[in-house]
This record gives sequence, C-alpha cells and structure tokens, in this order.
Amino acid sequence: MFELLTEKLSKVFNNLKGRGRLSEKDIQDALKQIRLALLEADVNYKVVKDFLEGIKERAVGQEVLESLSPGHQVVKVVNEGLIKLLGEGKQDLVFEGKSPFSLMLVGLQGSGKTTTAGKLSNYLRKNGRRPYLVPVDTQRPAAIEQLLKIGQEINIPVYPSKNTDRPEDICVKAMEVAVKNGSDILIIDTAGRLHINEELMEELSAIKKRIKPTEVLLVADAMTGQDAVNLAQKFNEEIDITGVILTKMEGDARGGAALSIMSVTNKPVKFIGTGEQLNALEPFYPDRMSSRILGMGDILSLIDKAQSEFDQKEAIKLSKKLGKAEFDLEDFKKQLSYIHKMGSMEEILAMIPGVGKMIKAGGVKADERELVRVEAIINSMTADERKDYRMINGSRRKRIAFGSGTRVEDVNRLLKNFAQTKNMLKKFRSGKKKGFQSMFDLN
Ligand code: GDP
Repeated sequence: MFELLTEKLSKVFNNLKGRGRLSEKDIQDALKQIRLALLEADVNYKVVKDFLEGIKERAVGQEVLESLSPGHQVVKVVNEGLIKLLGEGKQDLVFEGKSPFSLMLVGLQGSGKTTTAGKLSNYLRKNGRRPYLVPVDTQRPAAIEQLLKIGQEINIPVYPSKNTDRPEDICVKAMEVAVKNGSDILIIDTAGRLHINEELMEELSAIKKRIKPTEVLLVADAMTGQDAVNLAQKFNEEIDITGVILTKMEGDARGGAALSIMSVTNKPVKFIGTGEQLNALEPFYPDRMSSRILGMGDILSLIDKAQSEFDQKEAIKLSKKLGKAEFDLEDFKKQLSYIHKMGSMEEILAMIPGVGKMIKAGGVKADERELVRVEAIINSMTADERKDYRMINGSRRKRIAFGSGTRVEDVNRLLKNFAQTKNMLKKFRSGKKKGFQSMFDLN
C-alpha cells in the first residue's frame, strides 16, 4: 500500500530532516517535489493543487522556520494535510432508527462487490451484529451462486433469490425473512455491470426507494486509480452514496484513489479491502493511513509530545548559557525534567518505529530510576552548589547523598558526568560550533 508515494516522500523528508535550519526556498523546493510525488501517485490534479495551497502557508511560516527541528515540522504539517485529505476521523457505518437495517453495496462487475459483501457480514458479526445476505443480480445466476457459496463458507445465512423476481421485490422478501430469523442487518449485493448504464442506475434507484437503506456503499477497485474516483463521482450523482469501500488496496502502490475520493466526492472511504480472504477488510483510519504513507509509525505523536512539553523560550535561554559556559547543575536538572515530562522512557521509546517491538521482546530496558536518582541528588544541593559544582567537597558530598537517600558513589558519578559534559561543551564552543540546535534534533 502506498509504497511508491512513501518512497518518494521519504526522500524529500530525509533531505530536510538532516538540516538544522531551512530557508524558505528549501521548503518551496520540497513542496514542489511533494507535488510531483502526489501526481505520480495518481492523485487528482485539482486535489493536489488544493492540498499544496492548504499547507503552503504553514509550511513556510514561522512555525516551521523558527522551530528547533524544522524538517520534522514540515513532516507534521504535511501529515495534518494528508489526514484532512483522507477524511479526518474514522467514519463508522450509520445505523439510525430501529433495526433491522439495510445496507446496499453497489459497483461495477469485478470490483470485489460480492467478496466484500461476505467480508462485511463477517466484520459486522464480529462486532455483535446478526447479518443476512441477499444477492440481487438477477441477470447473472453465477453471481447469486457465488454469494451462496461465500455465505456457506463463513456460516452466514443468504436469501435464495430467484432470478425471475424483480430486484426490489427480492429485497423486500429477504427483509421479511431477515426479521423472522432475528437478523438485524440486511446486506444487499446489487447487480454489477462492466460499465455504468441507465438500466443499472434505474434498478439501483428502485431498490433504494423501496428499502431505504441507511448505507449505500460503492465498492471500487483501488488499483484503477482515478477511474475509481470518477466512478464514485458518477454513482454519487446518480444515486447518492453514503461512502466508499476501496478493494485491492494491498496491491495499490500509488494510492491515488484513496487520496482523492473524499475531496472530489465529499463522501468518505469507510473500509478498505486488503486481500482475497474473507477477513481481509479494515475500517479506514485517515490518521493511520497518513502515518503509513509517511512511513513514520507513531513518531508523529512523539513529535507532538516533545513539542508540547518543550518550552521554547526556556530553550533559548539555555542555549545562550551554553554559549557562555554558564550551564550549571540547575540547568542540567531542567533538561532532565523535560525528558521526564514527556512520559516514561519506555513509553517514549515505544513510539519510535521498530523500537516498540524490541521493548516488548525484552531487549531494551530503559533505566528510569537513574533519572529519578539524579534529580533527587540535585534537589539536595544548595543553590550555590548548583551554580558551582567545584565547591562540592567530600563532606558536602556526604550530606547530599544522605539528603537524597543515595550513596556517595552516586553523587560522585553524577558530578563526574556533569564535569565531562561541561568539558565537552567547552570544546564545542572553541571548535566548529555546531550549535545548540543539534542537541535537540530528534534524529
Ligand atoms: P464483483 O464482480 O464485484 O462481485 O467482484 P468479486 O467479489 O467477484 O471479486 C472479483 C475478484 O476480486 C475476485 O477474484 C476477488 O477474490 C478479488 N478481490 C476482491 N476484493 C479483493 C481485495 O481486497 N484484494 C484482492 N487482492 N482481491 C480482491
């Protein structure tokens, strides 16, 4: 899914993330490349244009240019734009009023409609519903046979439609049986044709009028890209759909249909089909899709977290102190408290793609106790001691250890580490001055 787009975008972002400062031109260039990547992914031309207009102002604004890690900020802005494009939140099926409900699946032949009817009934049963299936393609007995077979396979009842009845009459009869059976949702697998034609639309409208389904979902093949988008638009104009199910997403390296449908039709993608098996159906989560497209795991939440806990003004003050070698134990403590505020070390590590798994497997153990210990030791020092660690002699060390419930060795180790850090900073200043920026770069 989305592999081509992910590959192209990650090249653009890697280029940005490696740098501490970005100029407006750097970002403009990146936006151009993002535009190309989206067009190559077969995203609708107008959608791409609107998308870039929507994020441009923020991407080249102060928020990004003055941030501590501008490359990551650009990713964040793009991510928020993508989520919007994909339809904001997850769109659940609407079941309003009294049961039994009915749901119509519409679409062209070969799009995966019958398979999806099976998948959806399976999914709904797992979520506590009692579905009943009805095939109504009276011109294609094979389609009726296919749904009966699927029903048998997953043990869900199917109405034995007769191809001599009119489709809307079949639905009414099936609904009566559904009620008798105690089913609470009728899933209608409507006729599929190779192309949209008037006869098909009339048939679908007649069913819709009689049955009044709470959901009319278009099943479309994601691999057909913009054809799927045009199809959605046409079906929406003709019979007013409530959403889309995109099938064969696992084979769609580009993702143009998924990224365009919401903007073009104003109807959400509600599910995606990800394989031929009857359990290969997933609700569509715009935020997770976007993370997937950006190849980022949950790292975006981590950036958010770091952003919200990190006081930028405080950081600038700290940066000035570093420049003058004024960095003392009080500042050191402040830095530790930032790390602390962001959550437990393990929680933070778990958000980094790949690391979460290692933690679960027991490979990584973050020593949070050490952080607590260091903070306690600094808390037991006087203000003067924090300002100038060199005054902390043997008897002071003993007192601090006692006050913080630690051992003298712990105090010694902390002071040694701090002295080394200060030394390193001194070298930084006299050397090629890489800047404070790099210390907070999330890379
Ligand atoms: P219909 O004519 O619209 O009812 O389409 P079918 O349900 O008969 O499906 C057509 C083909 O697409 C079948 O071979 C299905 O197994 C396949 N198919 C359906 N959904 C998916 C999917 O999400 N992924 C893949 N790979 N194949 C699918």
